[in-house]
Amino acid sequence: MNVPIIISGGGIIGNYISLRLQRNNIHNIIIEKSDGSLPKGSGIRTVTLNENSIQLLKDVGISPSFSKVEHINVLDGEGSGKIQFAASDINAGSLSYVIYFNELHSLTSEFCRDRTYFNNEINTIQNLNTESDPEVILKDDTFIKANVIAGCDGRNSNVAKISSLSSKSDDYFQTAITFIVEADENNKTKAHQVFSEKGIFALMPAPDYQGTSNSYTVVWSINNKDLRGKEISEYVTANIAFFESKLSIQLRPISDMLSFRLTNHHFENYINGSVVLLGDAAHSIHPLAGQGINLGFADADVFCEEIINAYKKGISINEKSVLKRYEIRRKSMNLLMLKSMDFFVDLFGSDNLYLRLFRNFGLSFVNKSRFIKTFFIRQASGINKI
Ligand SMILES: Cc1cc2nc3c(=O)[nH]c(=O)nc-3n(C[C@H](O)[C@H](O)[C@H](O)COP(=O)(O)OP(=O)(O)OC[C@H]3O[C@@H](n4cnc5c(N)ncnc54)[C@H](O)[C@@H]3O)c2cc1C
Repeated sequence: MNVPIIISGGGIIGNYISLRLQRNNIHNIIIEKSDGSLPKGSGIRTVTLNENSIQLLKDVGISPSFSKVEHINVLDGEGSGKIQFAASDINAGSLSYVIYFNELHSLTSEFCRDRTYFNNEINTIQNLNTESDPEVILKDDTFIKANVIAGCDGRNSNVAKISSLSSKSDDYFQTAITFIVEADENNKTKAHQVFSEKGIFALMPAPDYQGTSNSYTVVWSINNKDLRGKEISEYVTANIAFFESKLSIQLRPISDMLSFRLTNHHFENYINGSVVLLGDAAHSIHPLAGQGINLGFADADVFCEEIINAYKKGISINEKSVLKRYEIRRKSMNLLMLKSMDFFVDLFGSDNLYLRLFRNFGLSFVNKSRFIKTFFIRQASGINKI
């Protein structure tokens, strides 16, 4: 078989790339390791998309149901610092959109099924750094010749391993718990985030969950040492009242609880020959600002733009310069976001008195500065891009 682009991984990012390229008449196939059923617990998990990601989806005809976030209220749970962000600060209708992971995954994969090879994966890539096109051999011995191989196969990317790309990784020594609650908050467009010794607690409005209209999603990052020897549900029951009291909102868990160990990683290079990494395959960050998948969409957008432009100009898509431009445009932006998240995790995880005073003062200072607030919001919404 001969195909211009092979995509390894049919997650949300791999599917989006496939769909956008196909709409531009660039043929591609997806190699997906799973049998196509939804990942475990994906009916509970949500993703927070920014304006840029929502627009990219709309442009390829995908409109998932969402809950809009128009205000975000951030509190220092150990002090008096607070900051409020509003969509009106940047004259926008919304700051972000909360969507169920399984709905977005189903919508994107539905359009790609006919070109997805399920229960399969890439075993070998030949001619990786030669003048010839790469040749791929799958687990079932299928042989495919391609121009470009896009690694969208998530956190432990198989394509990255096969092509010997190396990454740096850090453990936050934290676990993220996520579940759905019913909340007695009257404003369904308001999200809250509390930084405290009991963890980083985010409460965001979610679309109706199994008929409950006042559904909210909780993403709660907790230090592993505080969880040691305890069941997740036991920890939640014992500590949720602290956040109810801080926010003056009653919370009633109404779903199972999922937990994820929190680490980050970032590849020093996103490309090797005709192999290119995107989304979680290239990087992962702390979920505190809900930016993980938005970075993936921004990668996918730039990658598709460069490939489509090359096609239109008649330039071969595996020309080094085409993939290199993608890497240059995305790597520094992703690294900046990763370092910013680490800064906040360190700042709010510290018991140091001076740092605690600094963060109280810092939050109140930023809250009063329209310029800095607007900068933060524009950055998070994906409006500022290169
Ligand atoms: C607790 C938690 C909360 C989060 N909350 C948010 C949030 O609010 N907002 C946000 O933006 N992001 C959030 N994220 C991050 C977000 O979920 C990811 O960034 C996003 O799902 C990555 O998409 P992806 O398509 O790049 O990778 P994945 O979703 O990991 O998809 C990878 C695909 O590749 C397949 N695959 C794996 N190995 C192989 C192989 N060898 N061969 C072929 N296929 C393979 C997998 O089956 C899968 O289909 C959160 C993450 C966590 C852990």
